[in-house]
Amino acid sequence: MKKLLIILDPAHGIEVPGKRSPDGKHREYKWSRERLRELAPRLEALGYTVVWTNTTEKEIGLSARKNAGTLLAKQHPDLIPFLLSLHNDASGDGSQWMKASGISVWTSKGRTTSDIFADCFIQAFKEVIPEVKHRQYSPEYLQRDYEDNFTVLMGGYSANLIECMFQDNRDDVELLSDPAFNAKVVEALIKGFELSNNYITSKK
Ligand SMILES: [Zn+2]
Repeated sequence: MKKLLIILDPAHGIEVPGKRSPDGKHREYKWSRERLRELAPRLEALGYTVVWTNTTEKEIGLSARKNAGTLLAKQHPDLIPFLLSLHNDASGDGSQWMKASGISVWTSKGRTTSDIFADCFIQAFKEVIPEVKHRQYSPEYLQRDYEDNFTVLMGGYSANLIECMFQDNRDDVELLSDPAFNAKVVEALIKGFELSNNYITSKK
């Protein structure tokens, strides 16, 4: 058994406006769920306990996600809870193609244990997908992606939000539809969890 309780938090929902490429072909909610569904059995095979904030195609709301994560953490007191929210970034309002590209890892405000996980995921993405731009997480993160404070990063668990490529960049969207690229995303996430778990185990 691994020490981490992995709480998977898929992006948005089918009914949420925007959150897609300007041509409408890429849908963030769908991409996020597809990657996390590929990831979950791989993590379980490695000995992790994997749970979800939301198993539906719809948006259940930020408070419901946070409450689900907090409850799941309480239900597994022997494990260290870590929530991963997987998104695609956007630099415009979704109506036109933009230039920004790459992957960023976001964590909650201030120095927290979530920063340790962010370091592990940034390292993993740099190793597995070195050809794209990577951004360090920002300590000022709180207003990201959702309009109000990003509630799911503030529950009774450590948490990261990964923005994987830009859904309003043509080249990025092409990669997001490429099975070989998506397989590398899943590999990078697995590596990030393994680095995180190794770090935690080494400190116990
Ligand atoms: Zn998003």
